[in-house]
Amino acid sequence: MNNIQSIRGMHDILPEQSPLWRWLEKRVSNAFAAYDFQEIRIPMLEKAEVFTRAIGQATDVVEKEMYTFEDRNGELLSLRPEGTAGVVRSAIQHGLLSVPGLKVWYQGPMFRHERPQKGRQRQFHQFGAEVFGIEAAAADAELIALGERIWRAIGLSDRVRLEINSLGDREDRQRYRRQLVDFLQPHRDALDEDSQRRLETNPLRIFDSKNERTRQIMANAPRLADALSEPARAHFEEVCGLLDDLGIAYEINPGLVRGLDYYCRTVFEWITEDLGAQGTVCAGGRYNDLVEIQGGKPTPGIGFAMGVERLLALLESAGVEAAQAPHVFIVSRVAPQTMLSVAERLRDEVPELRVAVSLAGGSMKSQFKRADRSGARWSVILGESEIEAGQVAIKDLRAERGEQEMVHLDELAGHLQSALAGTERG
Ligand code: ATP
Ligand code: MG
Repeated sequence: MNNIQSIRGMHDILPEQSPLWRWLEKRVSNAFAAYDFQEIRIPMLEKAEVFTRAIGQATDVVEKEMYTFEDRNGELLSLRPEGTAGVVRSAIQHGLLSVPGLKVWYQGPMFRHERPQKGRQRQFHQFGAEVFGIEAAAADAELIALGERIWRAIGLSDRVRLEINSLGDREDRQRYRRQLVDFLQPHRDALDEDSQRRLETNPLRIFDSKNERTRQIMANAPRLADALSEPARAHFEEVCGLLDDLGIAYEINPGLVRGLDYYCRTVFEWITEDLGAQGTVCAGGRYNDLVEIQGGKPTPGIGFAMGVERLLALLESAGVEAAQAPHVFIVSRVAPQTMLSVAERLRDEVPELRVAVSLAGGSMKSQFKRADRSGARWSVILGESEIEAGQVAIKDLRAERGEQEMVHLDELAGHLQSALAGTERG
């Protein structure tokens, strides 16, 4: 029978890749903790309405990217294409918004039926952060500072740059939308096909077009920045001022509009030049209307989401490596119960030690080969007569001329513990 393959655009994270994932997850979760965020874990499957209401009908995500299906009860469900809508649903449902200042982060897979290509999958992963109930510009600035700290923590500060913009409030966008449509109508036939359609459904999104001719036309379009109401303009100025005070570099990009309908006021993206066309590694913004749209009391919010695969691609191109080899590889031809009990004792006495046992057996030569290939630092050799005398041999597999050292079984754990401490210091 032929073997079954995974779904196109949905990838396995293989054992050799997972150490880098864990390395990244640890650093990112530490950064969230440093800003007093708590983790929230929500289902991957929600009622489709959670997303259609929040994200907006006339967006790429809802129009063509969602995995939506009827379950056995005829209920319309969607695999989550992003995290914010579900977090808002959960926060309302559990009354988490009654006190202003809820800060939560999440991580996990998201699903979008897009054309798979470099930096674009159908199952991909995000880290995301959301802050609720704080209207003040300081919340925008602190969230952006958190993003900056994450780049520093993973050594990518030099590889990304920050772009920000303000989308104003709902009425600003409605007013601006009319101006933009008036400006674009005479150019209608010169726009690419998608943009012609968006002219009716979601004209701001035309700024996202990659079509050269369309981009040239948009370069002369009226600016959303000029259509902002006074409070929205003041808010944006304050955000910029706070970023200046914090020493965070940014560029104002008036064409930055973001693909989801729920954004307002501050929007931002961190972009890299090192990944080709799929260069946005983190994107976010304010969503002051979203909680109300989802059925809660009006509550401001702001958040961002990072694309984990794109971060990993950047880390790999920067040569960051993380591997997880065993510390100790036990080789022996003695009875299995002896090998297992020595290994268990080591695990009891040195919980942080990673202990592999040569369970596959075979000649000593082939066992040593496996020990080498495992990347282990030490092998522990249990000889028939030595073990009877309570002795085992330790061999440093990294040493030039790996001499064996005999130690008493009772001292093995202590010996390895100090050797381990030595490698971690060194
Ligand atoms: P893009 O313009 O690349 O389609 P987007 O605006 O749809 O991005 P968001 O919804 O803002 O993306 O998601 C936040 C981040 O998640 C993106 O900046 C990106 O890093 C990542 N991301 C989005 N879609 C995918 C995907 N299909 N595959 C891998 N990563 C993705
Ligand atoms: Mg997209």
